Amino acid sequence: MLHVRGSVQGVGFRPYVYRTAVRLGIAGGVWNATGGVVVDAEGEPEALDRLRAALFEAPLPARVENVEETAAGATVGGPGFGIRPSRVENRSTPRVPADLATCASCLRELFDPADRRFRYPFIACAECGPRYTAVLGTPYDRARTSYEPFPPCPACRAEYDDPASRRFHAQAIACPDCGPRVWADGDGSNDPVAAAVHALRAGGVVAVRGVGGVHLACDASDERAVGRLRAAKNRADKPFAVMFPGLEMLGRECVVDALALAALCGPESPIVLLPRRESTTLAPAVAPGLTEIGAFLPSWGLQHLLLAAYGAPLVMTSGNLSDEPIAVTNEEARARLGAWCDLLLLHDREIPGRADDSVVRVIAHAPRVFRRARGHAPGHFDLGFAAPDVCAVGADIRNTLCITRGREAFLSPHIGDLAGLDTQNAWAETRERMERLFHARPTAVAHDLHPGYHGTALALATGLPALAVQHHHAHVASCLVENGHPGPVIGVAWDGTGYGTDGTVWGGEFLVADLARFERRARLRPVALAGGDAAVREGWRMAIAYLMDAGLDPARIDARGAGTVARMISCGTGTVPTSSMGRLFDAVAALVGLRGASTYEGQAALELEALAARDGEPYVLPVIRSGELLELDPRAMIRAVVADVDAGVGSAEISARFHAALSVALAAACRAIRDETGLRTVALTGGCFGNRRLTELAAQALGADGFEVLLHSRVPAGDGGLALGQAAVAARRISDVPGHPR
Ligand code: ZN
Ligand code: ZN
Ligand code: FE
Repeated sequence: MLHVRGSVQGVGFRPYVYRTAVRLGIAGGVWNATGGVVVDAEGEPEALDRLRAALFEAPLPARVENVEETAAGATVGGPGFGIRPSRVENRSTPRVPADLATCASCLRELFDPADRRFRYPFIACAECGPRYTAVLGTPYDRARTSYEPFPPCPACRAEYDDPASRRFHAQAIACPDCGPRVWADGDGSNDPVAAAVHALRAGGVVAVRGVGGVHLACDASDERAVGRLRAAKNRADKPFAVMFPGLEMLGRECVVDALALAALCGPESPIVLLPRRESTTLAPAVAPGLTEIGAFLPSWGLQHLLLAAYGAPLVMTSGNLSDEPIAVTNEEARARLGAWCDLLLLHDREIPGRADDSVVRVIAHAPRVFRRARGHAPGHFDLGFAAPDVCAVGADIRNTLCITRGREAFLSPHIGDLAGLDTQNAWAETRERMERLFHARPTAVAHDLHPGYHGTALALATGLPALAVQHHHAHVASCLVENGHPGPVIGVAWDGTGYGTDGTVWGGEFLVADLARFERRARLRPVALAGGDAAVREGWRMAIAYLMDAGLDPARIDARGAGTVARMISCGTGTVPTSSMGRLFDAVAALVGLRGASTYEGQAALELEALAARDGEPYVLPVIRSGELLELDPRAMIRAVVADVDAGVGSAEISARFHAALSVALAAACRAIRDETGLRTVALTGGCFGNRRLTELAAQALGADGFEVLLHSRVPAGDGGLALGQAAVAARRISDVPGHPR
């Protein structure tokens, strides 16, 4: 009996095993089990060897990780080889496949007038179609998906049962006669795509219910339409993603290299952040102040039909108000979006698993996930040790949650910002769903150390024993788990905000950490954060703090309330010390006159990065000893930035010099920690390492110093990856405690 683990369910793997076994004259069967696929094979030893080898050569998207052989149990019996009913085994952890974009074969049929699925939006096969978003239970079978209410017609049934068909055992098989259907709400014609194209041409906004939720679409070249969408979504500047009909048009607007191309065309079909060409015809309102565009291609039938009919790029953004969870049901779409959308394209395939589009960016020669959702979630991660089951609530912004079972961890798709009640409800739904899908029974809940976090309240409300995990420790742990590294390492955790063990705001941290514990060894020199959340939105407040710390006159900052802020800082009232690297970016952006206030998280830093010239001589940014800690001391750099501004040096040059200084200082601090600890591995984590220039310069500098560098790739470096780290730290701690219930 062969127990096969990896990405083997919902990817056409059993049909592949079936065809191979029949070809080799092997008897027995193959079935989905809770933890993977089981193959029961009887035949000539040579044929069995060839079958074993063939398992690892299964066509993508299937991917076999390991095959375990056990003595033959009760033989399935009967002559020949068959695909048998799924079995639930209590011991092993189920896997849930991620959604797969429409494959090339299905796409050809979609546009083939002779095919019976010509223009049928829900076209899918054993190698493509919805998975996580449609799954109700495990193992993955049609009866446990939201296709259950659509019994296959005789023609579909025949394909499902035919080993020679691409749809042999395709759980999401459907056709115009038996499957879900799409309609335009309130539109009498029976061509919903034509109705949508008509509304879009007139400058309208169209809601399009998709695979993981509802999108909002408008013409990406129409400044007025994009402006209307911004106003309705209550989203001032945060960039919109753009969907292109095909690669040719995408390549005319954006610069696409080989790695980006592979990401765009992969089965995950994510939004890829790409440099935009000078000659762009997209409306400026799509991505104000940025030189990159979030570009992607259609990932399922309806999007292919819509984009092909429209023939021009469309803004395609999540159907929600800013930072709310994406709408999933027809009722939500009508209630939340119906009043101001010009048309709603809806369908009757329910979406039990909410999932936005994933976002990736190519950094340091690999695609790195920024927002982890459709096509990537839930995935699975090996903790490297067995532990009692844990639930981790995640961060307050860009929330995802994590469930562990045994030695495996599963990270939910992006949910949203936990401040909203709708997001908290979506969080609770997702938690219940993840626990059910993975048969997990958490014995503990992990949350951020911040007592005021919404996530902390959610954790305490579960009634489970709660474990607080320091924010930056969780970032480093997340990077360790994703890289399969046990630690200890030098963890460089740079981000906007995280509650420190001393009650101050951390964010420019160097931790020596493994999963169980951490020690803070170095930080960015703290300055005053004046006015709490206001200081996060208004970078000019940080500029005043840095000017005063560097002994300069804060009067050069001209903003309403500047005098008050300067007084608050000099007498220390209403301020808290912060070592946040994100706030240093805000301060420099304000000092060069780029931006004094942000309308979305990370805006100033993104714009500062976007503006950076190709190369810059690094500013002096020394690493000095301050008591127990090492500190990056930015005072000389701030004085040099101000001198450059006064001398008329361009902000592109200043930004380049600033990024270079940070990477040089980062490597210097790591060398100093290496000298004290002997550690030669550095994990770069936290939202700042979504910054391509900073990450690439830092990785280069560390590499030149002989360090091994761990970067994120499948998990966001920012707060979207925090839950995985929280879960790993909590699991590690309770597995170390004797007597904890298992
Ligand atoms: Zn297909
Ligand atoms: Zn059918
Ligand atoms: Fe963070």
